[in-house]
Amino acid sequence: MKDLDCSVVRDLLPLYAENMVNPDTGRAVAAHLEGCADCRAVYENMQRKIPVPVEENQKKAEPLKRLRFHMILNIISFPIWLPLLLAACAVALALYVCIWAVVVCLWCVPVIFGVLSVAAVVGAAVSFAQGLAGNGLLFVALLFTGAGLAVLSFVPCLLLSKQVIRLTKALTRRIKALFVSGKEVK
Ligand SMILES: [Zn+2]
Repeated sequence: MKDLDCSVVRDLLPLYAENMVNPDTGRAVAAHLEGCADCRAVYENMQRKIPVPVEENQKKAEPLKRLRFHMILNIISFPIWLPLLLAACAVALALYVCIWAVVVCLWCVPVIFGVLSVAAVVGAAVSFAQGLAGNGLLFVALLFTGAGLAVLSFVPCLLLSKQVIRLTKALTRRIKALFVSGKEVK
């Protein structure tokens, strides 16, 4: 492209300042600006007066940022999270109740054996009072069997309960920590 006239360059400058000329024209204008102090001054003055490109970029970027922010907010506040959280809590609660139900069932074993031995005591007493020594001895045997089984089944139940209580404590601590850290973040 030929060397440009100052008047042509000044006509092109607004477009050039906004990068809206084609590359060849842009190169020609740039070349002219390098060689012509007057046009360069006009160009610099123009850029100082109307920093349009920068401002426009910011205007474009700001809604975009805001949009991204709103998108994140929408995702976080999307109504699906609350039901999901509640469902997770419900499942956890159900599991927890199940664990305790199992523990309670296991406790039934020593309790039943305990009741059995108490009944055996009563049976033995009644049998001996009625002079039925044979039956009495049977009840005594039952008493010892029941008591022995009660003690035997009592120990694992106790250990299991302790484990579950320890688990509960750990869980409670973790949940509490979750909420405390959540407060700190806010
Ligand atoms: Zn010029």
